[in-house]
Amino acid sequence: MNRRILCLLLTCVVLFTAFIPFAKADEVTMYASDGRTISVKQSDISLWMDVGWFETAEDARIITMYALDGRTIEIPQYYREAYRKVGWYNTREEVTLMMYSTDGRTIEVYKDAAEAHHKVGWYYNLSDVTVPMYDKDGVEYSIFKDNVEKELANGLVLDKSDVMQLMFSADGRFIHVPFAKVTDFEKVGWYRAGGKIDPNRPMVAITFDDGPGKYTDAVLSILEKYNVRATFFVQGKNVAGYKTVMQRAVALGNEIGNHTWSHVNLARSSVPTISSQINSTNAAVYNATGVYPKLYRPPYGAYNGTVLNCIGMPAVMWSVDTLDWKTRNPAKTLESVKKNTVDGSIILMHDIHQPTYEAVERVVKHLLMNNFQLVTVSELIQTRQGSAVNGRVYTSVKP
Ligand code: ZN
Repeated sequence: MNRRILCLLLTCVVLFTAFIPFAKADEVTMYASDGRTISVKQSDISLWMDVGWFETAEDARIITMYALDGRTIEIPQYYREAYRKVGWYNTREEVTLMMYSTDGRTIEVYKDAAEAHHKVGWYYNLSDVTVPMYDKDGVEYSIFKDNVEKELANGLVLDKSDVMQLMFSADGRFIHVPFAKVTDFEKVGWYRAGGKIDPNRPMVAITFDDGPGKYTDAVLSILEKYNVRATFFVQGKNVAGYKTVMQRAVALGNEIGNHTWSHVNLARSSVPTISSQINSTNAAVYNATGVYPKLYRPPYGAYNGTVLNCIGMPAVMWSVDTLDWKTRNPAKTLESVKKNTVDGSIILMHDIHQPTYEAVERVVKHLLMNNFQLVTVSELIQTRQGSAVNGRVYTSVKP
């Protein structure tokens, strides 16, 4: 062996020895979904992936994915994100929902089929198929709509105020109390908010003239909060601009009365003018709310025999004049109510003035805390004297 051959041989040994670790590092294990493994060159990984091999056992593991129409698909976990992007889901829960029927049945449907189910009487929420009902102790039950008739026969009621009294505390908290416990709560400082009319308790009617206006809706919110009602003698010309406010007033149980179209002095008007002022306002209120006014209040309290004969409705005056329009002072308005209100009073205020709006909550609270029920003028007359009489003038309705 000459020196050149020896050199070559040594070089080969050195090179071979040096490359052993590199040769081993170049091999990686790849995984198939059926559990097989192979060793491949690092540089060939993408080639092997193209034919269904994966770098980790987790990537190769077969998973099930779900479609909204109920189809399922089995794919290697590696493709999960790509499939999610085109409308497949990880779990069955993501593609189905529970639907409800009014008779208490439930069904699990694929989301794609939900709308078709909804069209034939299935609902998305339990609250769509149930209503709250109450027993005489005020305990609330959730009743399927198909069972309401049966439960009414069993003595449950739909209207909480049939079995519960809404009460409030001087610091503004509200609770519902079963009727039998009302006196117990009164002894410890709770007061009755409005509700069903008790003909044996004192009652008054608050009236608001000249609106509707920009404070009327806020006044309604206060009345709603205390579950009390008032009467709004409106000018016909203002009604169209406050249609939804008028509808809300009616929906909350308030009364809309007629205060002429444009606040004319009826006692100084001709019969045709009187008729058109009243009739156009009745029509405007009906168009806005679907209810005709039953009462009118002559502007300035001005009426005469012609007015009363010509207008075929009961006329409503007042017994407590707060002079709110003049003082524009909430404290003075409250003071006037405190001083002058008795059982059967009809109280005059004007909801077009901000200070009046500011007085309303204090007035309402004062009256409720002094055991007055706040009712509409028609309710006051009806409870005390039966139906109001056309052509008669009502100033107050004492017991
Ligand atoms: Zn007026």
